[in-house]
Amino acid sequence: MIPYARHSTDRRDGRAAAQVIERGWLSSGPKVREFETAFAARVGAKHAVAVSSGTAALHLACLAAGLKTGDEAVVPAITFLATANAVLYCGARPAFGDVDPATLNLDLEAAARRVRSKTRAVLPVHYAGYPCDLKPYAPFFRKKGIVVIEDACHALGSTDRGLPVGSCRYSDMAAFSFHPTKAITTGEGGMVTTNDARFSRLLCELRNHGMVKDPELLQKKPEGPWAYEMQHLGFNYRLTDFQSALGLSQLAKLDGFLAKRRKLVALYLKELSDMPAVEAVGESVAGYLKTSAHHLFVVKIDFKRAGKTRRAVVEALAGKGVGTQVHYLPIYLHPYYRGLGYRPGLAPNAEKVYASLLTLPLFPTMNPADVKRIAAALREACAK
Ligand SMILES: *Cc1c(COP(=O)(O)O)cnc(C)c1O
Repeated sequence: MIPYARHSTDRRDGRAAAQVIERGWLSSGPKVREFETAFAARVGAKHAVAVSSGTAALHLACLAAGLKTGDEAVVPAITFLATANAVLYCGARPAFGDVDPATLNLDLEAAARRVRSKTRAVLPVHYAGYPCDLKPYAPFFRKKGIVVIEDACHALGSTDRGLPVGSCRYSDMAAFSFHPTKAITTGEGGMVTTNDARFSRLLCELRNHGMVKDPELLQKKPEGPWAYEMQHLGFNYRLTDFQSALGLSQLAKLDGFLAKRRKLVALYLKELSDMPAVEAVGESVAGYLKTSAHHLFVVKIDFKRAGKTRRAVVEALAGKGVGTQVHYLPIYLHPYYRGLGYRPGLAPNAEKVYASLLTLPLFPTMNPADVKRIAAALREACAK
């Protein structure tokens, strides 16, 4: 069975992590700082703060933005749960924005119209890797005092106007994940990038229980060299040194991974071009092949036109050894969110496009023959 996503790790990655373990530095140490420095350089941001997951990255970014009870944050209806959950963790309420059916990115025009006095943050997601066009909206959000937190968990390697996503040129912070399905992996892990030294310091404190050790920053005169203060309610969201060694080793291979993904997607587009009921999400948009990191390969299938249900197509593909997934059910349709009072109909475009979505396998160790086999299986599954 070919899965819809798979990590690419090799013996060099393993050795990099093992060396750190053998040296005996297991928790956060010099490799974490090395990983942060390399990551910040790769995406062109001043600061990078490593944390234990993408979810932790989003949670801390929301806290650093000052999200609290009574506030609202605009989140796209279609994204992974963590984007909206991070808002809830702060006691704030997600306001679900509709998506652009061509890219499944947050419809920023509509999001800007939804802004109210309670709106404190907006969390655009670069869905499947295609970059959100933040530049035209950045001045508006800034003027309103709204913090822009990019959920860049799909977008390590994506570029926007020639700049890497994560450079925070048009945002305040960007959150990344190193889960095994993502562009690079540390097992579990995440990163927040920012150009704001105040956010960076706050994120560093919040990932470590809210502890402050710098004598310059203590509120009381230190009793001795051991003194530290807890100045905020923080967490243990630290990344370990051996995970960071793995991350460094993976980061060095990112460009190779991206090139492979891009080549496979180009072949997919060619192979699927004779199937009128199938369209890749983003393919109609300028710069799709070049600017996206192609974290996922998602197609929209006109199941009515094909005369098949999604379940029948998924089962036929599985029968041919092709794994698929659906990214994602609009978040507010999950029972927990229904329990918070959200109702169907909130984001009509998202609900409509959701019914057509299917994620096909894409990862760097796939080969062209796999793409051809998957396309043939899809053609057959959709045939009347
Ligand atoms: C993976 C992902 C996350 C969460 O990352 P974890 O590292 O699994 O916590 C958040 N948002 C999006 C869009 C993701 O794809």
